[in-house]
Amino acid sequence: MTIRYGASTDIGRVRETNEDSILHKPPVFAVADGMGGHRAGDVASQTALSILGTADVADAASLIRAVRAANSAVFERSRAEAGTEGMGTTLTALFAANSRLAVAHVGDSRAYLFRDAELNQITRDHTVVERLVEQGRISREEAERHPQRSYLERALGVDVRVEVDSEELEVAEGDRVMLCSDGLYGMLDVDDIATILAAEQDPQSAADRLCSAAVEAGGVDNVSVIVIDFGPSSVAVANPPTTSKVSRRRRVTKMAAVLVTFLGLLGVGQIALRGSWYVGESDGKVAVFRGIPGRVAGFELSHVEEVTDLQTDSLTDHDRRTVQEGIPVKGQEDAAVHIQRLRKLARTTLPAPERETLPTPTPTP
Ligand code: MG
Repeated sequence: MTIRYGASTDIGRVRETNEDSILHKPPVFAVADGMGGHRAGDVASQTALSILGTADVADAASLIRAVRAANSAVFERSRAEAGTEGMGTTLTALFAANSRLAVAHVGDSRAYLFRDAELNQITRDHTVVERLVEQGRISREEAERHPQRSYLERALGVDVRVEVDSEELEVAEGDRVMLCSDGLYGMLDVDDIATILAAEQDPQSAADRLCSAAVEAGGVDNVSVIVIDFGPSSVAVANPPTTSKVSRRRRVTKMAAVLVTFLGLLGVGQIALRGSWYVGESDGKVAVFRGIPGRVAGFELSHVEEVTDLQTDSLTDHDRRTVQEGIPVKGQEDAAVHIQRLRKLARTTLPAPERETLPTPTPTP
């Protein structure tokens, strides 16, 4: 099996930094989407991929070990370096040395298999809304528009340990695997992505065109794409696959199922607390929270980090509603930018005229 690949990343139209990082060092490929204020996001994603890029990866087990080592490196760095505390990153990594692939994954970057003009997601997003979809509490369509769709349930580097999902799958000649950050699938729907993958034969052209299509569609986030093509081997294949399409599709098997363990409610809260920030309402005032809005089984999933003097009553109706729902932000600095905007649009109420301090009348019996 020969491998050809193309990779592309773009800052997009809105963000000031590209916090995504990509690694293409065959047989290892990876996409990481960092988070954290003040450039900490790119430190997180770069740190993770530098560990992965120098690790000795030879199979699924060593890929998972490398992902865990990347977790430790990001976590240790966030504790040692000022301004990076709470940083984290997604990581979707692929080991592709032969027809058997290994995927290791944490967060909401994705791996897809494009086969016979059909695009199928290999990884499962570790987001709060994905869990709500699986529990049947919201529909897939609602999830796509959900204001909290970017809240991660799991991320790399936010805790001393990390749960890593892993999959193994068999690829055949003509298969294409795509790794991407949410900046791609958040901007383009599956049909658009499949159309481009079908039209562009060259993997680099495919990666470039996918990236530019996501930017043209709005580019509200950083975009990263790696396209890996599997072609004919120069050595004759001793046992050509004879299985039917249906069973081949089912070969996307869960490996190391133990690792994909139930994530307790408390665990969700702790990870959310460390990794997520939002601007919300506290006692009628705009406040910065760490965690995610709401409570589960009596657990508050957030705590107030800072209360401003900005009254939610003074906001426009639209802003008040979004603040009450919670506006996801990347960290404290990003929160400050949002609050500044809210302030600008808030109804300016004139301060009450200064009153002269009158002597307190002595009560007469
Ligand atoms: Mg992103």
